[in-house]
Amino acid sequence: MKAVSTEFKANAGRALHDVQLQRALTNIRTGFVAKRRAALEILPEFEALRRAGKAIKDHALANLDLYLERFEHEVERAGGQVHWARDAAQAREIVLELCREAGARTVTKGKSMVGEEIAINEALEAAGITPVETDLGEYIIQLAGEPPSHIIAPALHKTREQIVELFREHHAQYGLTKALESVPEIVDEARKVLRDKYFAADVGITGANFLIAETGTAVIVTNEGNGDLTATLPKTHIVLASLEKVVPTREDVAVLLRLLARSATGQAFTSYTSFFTGPRREGDPDGPERYHVVLVDNGRSGIAGDEDFREVLRCIRCGACLNHCPIYNAVGGHAYGWVYPGPVGSVLTPLLIGESEAADLPNASTLCGRCEAVCPMSIPLPKMLRKHRERQYAERIVPPRQRLPLQAWAWLARRPGLYRLAMRSGVGLLRLLAGRRGRLRSVPLAGAWTQSRDLPAPQGGTFIDAWKRGQRR
Ligand code: SF4
Repeated sequence: MKAVSTEFKANAGRALHDVQLQRALTNIRTGFVAKRRAALEILPEFEALRRAGKAIKDHALANLDLYLERFEHEVERAGGQVHWARDAAQAREIVLELCREAGARTVTKGKSMVGEEIAINEALEAAGITPVETDLGEYIIQLAGEPPSHIIAPALHKTREQIVELFREHHAQYGLTKALESVPEIVDEARKVLRDKYFAADVGITGANFLIAETGTAVIVTNEGNGDLTATLPKTHIVLASLEKVVPTREDVAVLLRLLARSATGQAFTSYTSFFTGPRREGDPDGPERYHVVLVDNGRSGIAGDEDFREVLRCIRCGACLNHCPIYNAVGGHAYGWVYPGPVGSVLTPLLIGESEAADLPNASTLCGRCEAVCPMSIPLPKMLRKHRERQYAERIVPPRQRLPLQAWAWLARRPGLYRLAMRSGVGLLRLLAGRRGRLRSVPLAGAWTQSRDLPAPQGGTFIDAWKRGQRR
């Protein structure tokens, strides 16, 4: 997927005026947010689980080399093969080579964010191999020719009417022309189309929610069972996973699964939780003949060594930070311009594609702190967003019109007497400009802020004056 994060402001502007998108985004509050809250209300041990989950991931990340080697050893012991990909290009090449070896013409795919990250579908198509997305949301956006807009609900930006229209356009070739009216009818029609694709596929590619070092197992959770069909029906199964997915034991995964489902969809557990360890064994009724795991670094080892950002690798991709973010709720996922939207995307994207390629993202935050409050992995996302801003300033990525006011403020803040005088003068001036109305329609240097709202004139002097009065009482 080509990154267009440099266009965040223009994308966001368009998103705010997209009536269909705004309608689709209202589902977040009634869906994910409400269901997560209800799930947590009946789980008193959630905070204890959260602490345990954080400790598990911190330990795994501190010993990443050890657990990855153990994982590789166990996969090979089970008859599979592990491939190490330094970057996106190498990961694509490995997958293509494996598909060529399998003589693949069609590949079924489970949902995989790292697959989006390395643009595997584009690479397969360029090599003459047809990828077929099997997750319903991914299937919908594949038909629409769009990238996902949410980590766990890729087609969240689509209304039901838009999906019905897409199916009408693309399914007529299969003789499916019934006017679809309900969600079960939509699901049923997608199932009919996908059924044949599963049987025709030569290779199945899935992601992995977790990798278990002690057994060499890839764990995949879905609500549709598509992961199982993708993994078990074709002769070759390829698991695409980034390095930080590894955890030491099955017990560790049990803790993380409890956190993941509740934080993501408000379910106690996802409908299908599947454990894949190697190819089909003698006597197995089904399963692939060949089993490969492609471990993708693509910048993770650098992040693991960066103490400002290491903690973001604890992310289990539940999407809760997106669902609770006022910015994501206003503009949706496409505005972020790359694979990972929302607060976690604003932290991760600059690390993966470069600070200047995604400079707007860490600034697209009110720093309200809801993302950290709901994150099951207690990732300090606001602190990291501020770190990005600091780096942008230090690396002179911040344009002069933002740098100069910041420099002026820093100069002033180091001179308390002058600072107080400037603040008092500023407050007086704003009151004067506001006049009897008590509100300002436009403020110099803050035109964007007052474009759609008035600014109330300051009341009762400066903050320091108010604080001093409070001290004297
Ligand atoms: S940062 Fe936290 S809340 Fe956001 S997707 Fe990752 S685990 Fe979930």
